[in-house]
Amino acid sequence: MSEDNCLSLRENTIIARGSGVFDETGSISVPVYRSATYVHKTNDHDPSAFYYSRCDTPTRRALEKQVAALEHGVDAVAVTSGLAAMDAVLKLFVPGDRIIVSSDLYGGSYRLFDQIYGKYGLNFVFVDTWDLDAVKEAAKEEVKAIYLETPSNPMLRVSDIGAISEIARQKDALLIVDNTFLSPLYQKPIELGADIVVHSATKYLSGHHDVLAGVIVTATAELREKLYFYVYATGSPLSPDDCWLTLRGIETLSVRLQRQQENAKALSEFLKTLPNVAKVIYPGDEEHPDHKLAKRQQTGFGSMISFEVKDFSKAPSYFEKFNLIYQAGSLGGVQSLISLPNYSLQCPIPAEQRKHTGVTDGLFRLSVGIEDVEDLKEDLRQALS
Ligand code: PLP
Repeated sequence: MSEDNCLSLRENTIIARGSGVFDETGSISVPVYRSATYVHKTNDHDPSAFYYSRCDTPTRRALEKQVAALEHGVDAVAVTSGLAAMDAVLKLFVPGDRIIVSSDLYGGSYRLFDQIYGKYGLNFVFVDTWDLDAVKEAAKEEVKAIYLETPSNPMLRVSDIGAISEIARQKDALLIVDNTFLSPLYQKPIELGADIVVHSATKYLSGHHDVLAGVIVTATAELREKLYFYVYATGSPLSPDDCWLTLRGIETLSVRLQRQQENAKALSEFLKTLPNVAKVIYPGDEEHPDHKLAKRQQTGFGSMISFEVKDFSKAPSYFEKFNLIYQAGSLGGVQSLISLPNYSLQCPIPAEQRKHTGVTDGLFRLSVGIEDVEDLKEDLRQALS
């Protein structure tokens, strides 16, 4: 593998250069090694060699090295989806372990915690992790890990990674951060004290709504070794083709995010001018309750906006009127997507918890893409009128 990916290069350069010159052919695109197995004429084990694609492939290693470099982690493991990444991380724990989790989070993550690992005896407590006192209170009891989604999905609450990493350290607990919403370009949780970062690489990292992928980045080689073991032993590594697509997507991460964020900033202001919109939630907005923290801890505010309409009963009919913005789940890609979280992705979360965090029937979640911002405004204007 190339020596290009050294941290002395500036981040936008590391991103654009991808894996650099890969091998003696001079290829600047990593080949897709589809071979399921590799020939070895002797029985001596070489730890740096490739043996079987469930264990390692050169294409997967190139992706893992690239995401680890961007996150300033030690190494990474690429898996079949964001949920597969979280699934592998949860295997670090044993029945009876207590884990503090952000109370506002992706509904599928809640389902994994509650309906799968709850059944195997892990004990999850859902806490408003943007409230440090609430985290301290919950950490008075024994705790093995703190799991943050920041900014959270869909309410975009921001949790203080540095301060919570101190609480985790005092309790000898792991700090795990889902960095899907910002990507390593706008937030580096490991630098702020996290032990593990997980990504749904389906979103910003790959960026084109055309691949399902997950990546786990670790702060230590020991954690990587454990997680790599769970992934190869249970069979959830990412396929070489999907690794390649994700790597190709990452090459344009900086330009995509820059444009998406510019559009999001403009739309968050524009939405406030629409008479049927009651509330706009965007961490880049000075009125956002966690704006100051977001400004300090992040290097960008991202391109996710949530907003609430005045008349909740009209939300489904507004939703049907979008022409340009796609009515679809997922986020982070070049095309803008809109969803009604309370009718879809947040359903696995109990109604009480959703009510507590503010997820109402009138709440829309908008993932802003790279389209011309005037066209996006026009679509929002006509749909919400
Ligand atoms: N984490 C967050 C914040 C998400 O929004 C999602 C999916 O939307 C996931 C994890 C799960 O990722 P995947 O769909 O790739 O399994």
